[in-house]
Amino acid sequence: MFYPKEFDVIVVGGGHAGTEAALAAARMGQSTLLLTHNIETLGQMSCNPSIGGIGKGHLVKEVDAMGGAMAIATDEAGIQFRILNSSKGPAVRATRAQADRILYKQAIRSRLENQPNLWLFQQAVDDLLVEGNRVVGAVTQVGIRFRARAVVLTAGTFLDGKIHVGLNNYSAGRAGDPPAVSLSARLKELALPQGRLKTGTPPRIDGRSIDFSVMQEQPGDLNPVPVFSYMGTTAMHPKQVPCWITHTNEKTHDIIRAGLDRSPMYTGVIEGVGPRYCPSIEDKIHRFAGKESHQIFLEPEGLTTNEFYPNGISTSLPFDVQLDLVRSMRGMENAYILRPGYAIEYDYFDPRGLKSSLETRQIEGLFFAGQINGTTGYEEAAAQGMLAGLNAALQTQGREAWVPRRDEAYLGVLVDDLITKGVQEPYRMFTSRAEFRLSLREDNADMRLTGIGRQLGCVSDAQWQAFENKREQVAREMERLRTTWVNPRILAATEAERVLGKALEREYSLADLLRRPQVNYESLMSLRGVEQQDLAGPAVADPAVREQVEIQVKYAGYIDRQAKEVERHAHYENLKMPVGFDYMEVSGLSIEVRQKLNKHQPETLGQCGRISGVTPAAISLLLVHLKKKG
Ligand code: FAD
Repeated sequence: MFYPKEFDVIVVGGGHAGTEAALAAARMGQSTLLLTHNIETLGQMSCNPSIGGIGKGHLVKEVDAMGGAMAIATDEAGIQFRILNSSKGPAVRATRAQADRILYKQAIRSRLENQPNLWLFQQAVDDLLVEGNRVVGAVTQVGIRFRARAVVLTAGTFLDGKIHVGLNNYSAGRAGDPPAVSLSARLKELALPQGRLKTGTPPRIDGRSIDFSVMQEQPGDLNPVPVFSYMGTTAMHPKQVPCWITHTNEKTHDIIRAGLDRSPMYTGVIEGVGPRYCPSIEDKIHRFAGKESHQIFLEPEGLTTNEFYPNGISTSLPFDVQLDLVRSMRGMENAYILRPGYAIEYDYFDPRGLKSSLETRQIEGLFFAGQINGTTGYEEAAAQGMLAGLNAALQTQGREAWVPRRDEAYLGVLVDDLITKGVQEPYRMFTSRAEFRLSLREDNADMRLTGIGRQLGCVSDAQWQAFENKREQVAREMERLRTTWVNPRILAATEAERVLGKALEREYSLADLLRRPQVNYESLMSLRGVEQQDLAGPAVADPAVREQVEIQVKYAGYIDRQAKEVERHAHYENLKMPVGFDYMEVSGLSIEVRQKLNKHQPETLGQCGRISGVTPAAISLLLVHLKKKG
């Protein structure tokens, strides 16, 4: 039967990509349906109970800057917050939070249920409705047909998923959930380019069986406690708890080596490629054979459960080996395993088959986001989901797609990498992937993106007001620092020595003084004049405004240089390639390059340059050809 209501956008899958996609499309005012296997698993964290980290935290802030849910849900569910790389430059500083997985799911679900224009429906999707080369809906397991003008597919690790524990394996989407076999077959039938990847997870341990007294405690940052969302506050955080650290040892490594003959990875049972930078413990022992010990973090899964996630021992070894290896570690001698570790193999679709809007090239109106595109991680999934949801909504509004540039957002880097280079292993975000990372900081994601989000229609009035207020305060404070002067007459030498390290020899603006390496905003604001008068204050109260001012002043030189570099490249980078352009007609290019460019049909000249094998010389030839064509 056809369901009586027609939707603008259908999102299939209620993981991290699907929930952000559905929320984004609905925030844009489009009637949206989120179709998922199970409403109870909306926003479920399949693996580690944490959000953020280097590169990933940047993506979460970008989603947040555009009105998305991941950061604020983490503020409501986070039981330990840390700023990573806090002693390093602002470009690589990143927020990471341990989340209570039950609270996180609740936070996501309540946003979904209370979002205007959004409907939920629980059913497996087995088929897509395609008319000509356009998707027009989806069909569920019991034959209910839903019509829509665009469909976003976010099936995660579920497409033809197969779980491995030792030499045993079975079909599943992840532990406890069914696989999506019919949908996978249907997508293959549509001849979308496809491959196989794998990922893994550690066994979970009952905290009552762990001896924490012999482990090292790792608390979160307490002064100040970080906040993830631009709209978040520490008052939203539930109780904060520590993590714990133990180590593998020679005995652990011997147990693992002895079990390799029953490892599905080392016996060739698993064919999918796994993430190199997030290896299983058996991989680590094999690849870093000389290393005597690896650090293992015991992360609480929540405030109302005894379950712990031992970060660092992801494994698909047989269960008896898992038990022995866990129990060989200090403090884990009596550990009780609640859930076995496992690896999962699944289908992904070659992201080179996507446009930069995340719409498939082959089927109009069909968008892919998340793990299905060969990425790994909640944050990568959420960011793509938001983009796909926005673009599906824009398409149904008859508006042009929004495509973030590489110099504008990590999301731009992510999508551009995926569609120009494809993936050879599960793709995760690192700050090193961004060439303009000084401009793409966590702290300025709102400055980069909230205005765009507002124009597109996905940023609420409340968020917009808070942002405008912050932007205004930053501008006012920057101006005040630039135009307030301090001279040796009014600043005593001892005071100058205390804050600036040496006496002033001439007049400086407060901004000049703040640029000095030993000075920060707080110390600058403590400057007192000869008669104890306040020289630099009053300081602004909002820590986010202070941070922004300090970074903008201190790094102004570098930031300006980067902005000029972006400008220099902009013309060629953003030069649009004609749609359906035949590269065979460009003389001087090798046949291989012509074939590759013809196959991938890059949207801009910049993208052409990032396709493997396309050299700077080939780009010059292309440019000459385009100029000749006018
Ligand atoms: P998922 O979170 O997988 O969500 C997919 C959703 O789609 C689910 O709600 C599912 O029920 C639904 N769905 C699927 N098919 C259908 C259908 N046909 N009909 C209706 N609904 C459907 N990430 C890391 O960063 N590091 C790791 O170490 C790591 N290890 C992992 C280990 C395991 C075992 C697993 C399973 C995942 C791991 N991940 C890891 C990946 C992380 O979980 C994913 O990257 C992330 O969840 C992807 O989000 P997603 O929204 O694309 O898909």
